Amino acid sequence: MSEKLKAILRYANTAPSPEQICKIKTVLSNKFDTTEIELEVHEDSSIGGGFIVSCGNFEYDWSDLGRARQLRSELSKHGRKSGDNATDRIIGMLKNKVENFTLEVSDREVGTVEWVGDGIANVKGIEHTFYGEIIEFEDGTRGMAQDIREDHIGCILFGNDTGIRQGTRAVRTYKEAGIPVGEAFIGRVIDALGAPIDGLGDIKESGYRAANEPAPGIIERQSVNEPMETGILSIDTMFPIGRGQRELIIGDRQTGKTSIAIDTIINQKGKDVICIYVAIGQKASTVAKIVQTLKKTGAMDYSIVVCSTASDRAPLQYIAPYSGTAMAEYFMHQGKAVLIVYDDLSKHAVAYRALSLLLERSPGREAYPGDVFYLHSRLLERSSKLSSELGGGSITALPIIETQAGDVSSYIPTNVISITDGQIFLESDLFFEGMRPAVNVGLSVSRVGSAAQTKAMKKAAGSIRVDLAQYREMAVFTQFSSDLDETTKKQLAHGTVLMELLKQPLEHPIAMHEQVIILVAVGSGRLDMIPVGQIKSYKERLLAYFNTEQGEICQELIKSRDLSEQLRHKIIEAVDSFNDLENKKLKEEIEHMKN
Ligand code: ATP
Ligand code: MG
Repeated sequence: MSEKLKAILRYANTAPSPEQICKIKTVLSNKFDTTEIELEVHEDSSIGGGFIVSCGNFEYDWSDLGRARQLRSELSKHGRKSGDNATDRIIGMLKNKVENFTLEVSDREVGTVEWVGDGIANVKGIEHTFYGEIIEFEDGTRGMAQDIREDHIGCILFGNDTGIRQGTRAVRTYKEAGIPVGEAFIGRVIDALGAPIDGLGDIKESGYRAANEPAPGIIERQSVNEPMETGILSIDTMFPIGRGQRELIIGDRQTGKTSIAIDTIINQKGKDVICIYVAIGQKASTVAKIVQTLKKTGAMDYSIVVCSTASDRAPLQYIAPYSGTAMAEYFMHQGKAVLIVYDDLSKHAVAYRALSLLLERSPGREAYPGDVFYLHSRLLERSSKLSSELGGGSITALPIIETQAGDVSSYIPTNVISITDGQIFLESDLFFEGMRPAVNVGLSVSRVGSAAQTKAMKKAAGSIRVDLAQYREMAVFTQFSSDLDETTKKQLAHGTVLMELLKQPLEHPIAMHEQVIILVAVGSGRLDMIPVGQIKSYKERLLAYFNTEQGEICQELIKSRDLSEQLRHKIIEAVDSFNDLENKKLKEEIEHMKN
């Protein structure tokens, strides 16, 4: 025999008639599949009018209070989209709403807040919820079900928690947490929930995407086959990145990690790539500077900045990279190429640790929760190159990790190294020696990108990595010796020139054909006798000469993306004639000075 079901009916003004009570009982008996219903009837003037029936943690709301709440949420939806004539529209809508208002009497599952603090609320009474569901609190604040326990659920709050206290009602919404997406977001700065924060007005969304979408499956993918050029010589030649790849940028603080990511974004100009920069726990001033750089270089025209600053609550910092990825997926599924930068995942892990500890999950290694690996793997697995049937779109990810004193073997760095397809390791020592970008050639790798490297680049890069490694070894070895044989001297000179060539100032991406020209020139040994101090200006003059005088060679490289032997000879010949020109100019100058 089923148990007797207890329900409470609260009413204001007029008590329900026996007929109405009978109807309510039928609704309840259908819902809970029992005929044994005990209905308690109370008067409660706080609900304004009408009545509310609560049964367990379900609630049927026919009250004025509920009506007002629904109207308010309807209004706030429209308020968000308001434009110039917002007031007129709101009045029009109000009239319309009041005339045709139908109260939705859907059943709602409600609970009450048991504990709240630090962006977390524990809610008791909601028996059914799914991970990632939006929970709405009485004051309009929204949260997400993050921790589902037997007797309560832990919600992370996306808004201010000052309006929430013990006993505040919380309602299920049956919706997954996510962000609005669409083309209109390009060129904008938004917060982790998709609301604009650049003061340029509202954004018209074309859809909504859940933040925690699953990653594409194996059948839906294809292998990486198109290059994602960074425009940074040392990376494109030795650690090429392909579209759909995940390449980690790792290094101590202030070693130029962000700069590499931003330069890569700047280099995507005219390449039909949408770039998303996700700032996690960054200083607001740093983000403002980055936005300014992107605007100045024209890169903002194809970029979106998703920003959660250091002052944002941990839940917002936690959700930001997932929101950014949801946005990226929207474009990927349209067949577009997307580049996403997560700056940085160390701070993301710290935000997640704070949340987990507040949710009373047991701490593990370095006090991170046990699922911190999954935190990053489920994020980075979403970067992929989709198959041609699905449009061939891609998400290339450049996650950033900050190390402490170059220690790559601590918990979070090893996790993310093992998830990604390679890493670019930046070193403080190199950075302070003036080698910028401070890429450590020995510790950096790219596991899949070489499949996507252009033929021209592959042929031109040749043995540069080995040459550099040899040079580094030899430089240490010969530091204190004075009489060196000719071959060693030559190797050292070649290495010094190579190192000098790999130095690259900020916001100066080098195009593919220019990189090939530099590599061919240095490979032929034509640059070895140039004094180190003059290499930088020589490189600039040489490239200017090629772009203006040798347009044919440049065009051939751009078009064929290949480097035939014939073309290599042509380039070397052109370098020779440039050198002759330089020598002639030098002689003339000397003559001039003599006279
Ligand atoms: P943080 O740990 O604070 O996030 P970061 O590793 O992201 O630092 P950046 O902010 O990119 O480092 O760079 C640090 C400083 O180094 C900046 O002032 C930047 O201008 C300078 N810098 C970085 N790369 C280069 C470069 N190639 N040439 C000259 N200066 C550079
Ligand atoms: Mg940085």
